[in-house]
Amino acid sequence: MSDSGSHVAVRRKLGFSTTAIHTGSHPDPSTNAVIPPIGLSTTFAQSEIGTSKFEYSRSGNDTRERLETALAALEQAKYGLAFSSGSAVTAALLDSLRGGHVVCGHDVYGGTHRYMTKVAKHKGLRTTFANLADAGVLRGLIQEDTKAVWVESPSNPTLTLVDVREIVAVAKGVKSDIIVIVDNTFLSPYLSNPLLFGADIVFHSVTKYINGHSDVVMGALVTNSDSLYETLKFLQNANGAVPSPFDCFLAHRGLKTLSLRARTASESALQLATYLSSSPSVLSVTYPGLPSHPQHLLTFKQHRMLNGRPLSGGMISFRIKGGAAAAEQFCYSTKFFTLAESLGGVESLLEIPARMTHAGLTEEERLRAGVYGDLIRLSVGIEDVEDLIWDVEQAFAKVSESVGEKEDGVVEVDSGIGSETSSVMNV
Ligand SMILES: *Cc1c(COP(=O)(O)O)cnc(C)c1O
Repeated sequence: MSDSGSHVAVRRKLGFSTTAIHTGSHPDPSTNAVIPPIGLSTTFAQSEIGTSKFEYSRSGNDTRERLETALAALEQAKYGLAFSSGSAVTAALLDSLRGGHVVCGHDVYGGTHRYMTKVAKHKGLRTTFANLADAGVLRGLIQEDTKAVWVESPSNPTLTLVDVREIVAVAKGVKSDIIVIVDNTFLSPYLSNPLLFGADIVFHSVTKYINGHSDVVMGALVTNSDSLYETLKFLQNANGAVPSPFDCFLAHRGLKTLSLRARTASESALQLATYLSSSPSVLSVTYPGLPSHPQHLLTFKQHRMLNGRPLSGGMISFRIKGGAAAAEQFCYSTKFFTLAESLGGVESLLEIPARMTHAGLTEEERLRAGVYGDLIRLSVGIEDVEDLIWDVEQAFAKVSESVGEKEDGVVEVDSGIGSETSSVMNV
């Protein structure tokens, strides 16, 4: 077994898929089973006190260790830690700061915003939210006790990118001990590895692309820092928000096909986004892989390239003509895109952020973030892209039919300032 945790001892830099398939996946030495059994035991026999590798399963077990080794390898990191959800990682990371100040992208995942403003706040942590698409903005926001900068790229659901190298340069330029945390959930380790751009910690909701089959809730972080690893490993055990061995097995199985899934989702999403851009039913499309995206050039610097083209993931958002009512009708009309929250699975999903994932924001916050009532978010899965395009096309036809019935063909455009409210809905 090599140091990397692979059973294949080779002296060459392995490709992403080889790494995903072999790291942490050596055959079980006691049976030679190619797929090692799931270690369900909560405790481990000790032949001599204090010398066993594992003692109690919350602190560590072989099934989780295999997964953590693989997760670290996917992000080209030294260390990986798995938690019971992405949100448990958020809690551990923010708790580890022990108060002080954080600068955070203004459009991060809702649960991250919620933990910062409703939980960490009461533990003495202050957060400044800002649009960090222009990294220079960060300079003016750093305070004497700023401990971390938290960014997400692309953000949700408006798919704004952040230049991680620039964020790192600005943050460390002002204060060298600031930790830069990148939530890399939307791209997955296949499309981008922010540690290579100088980030200190990369965060994943494993629930999404890494597991990829919409059947596990899990989170992970990776880092190269010995001291951050020690602190966060301590919290992983002390807080106890650990994933079960069975979930570790599933996530490990899922990540072996991440490259295939993320590549297909990216390629299909580009085709679908291109189709949407030319559809008369669409007001605007946001997808980082389209040249019309204002930060498209950044994808060349930060995303994996395939055949000279950057891959930009499976998330698209677009505004439909006809307002919030048309958006709702559209979501009820698709056959393969299932109306559901979450993302990153093999199956395509769609949702209306204003009424679902982002319903917790006030109307003012939503409009400022560009989360209009007619905005639809797609998570493109790995079905055949022809079927997905057909699905969207037939759903548009259903929407125009019903608009035609009601309004004699007049299509109304929702300014987004409408009064449809989200207060009754919750995530
Ligand atoms: C889902 C998600 C999270 C939270 O992860 P959970 O596994 O649901 O707790 C954090 N960040 C992003 C970008 C997400 O999509």
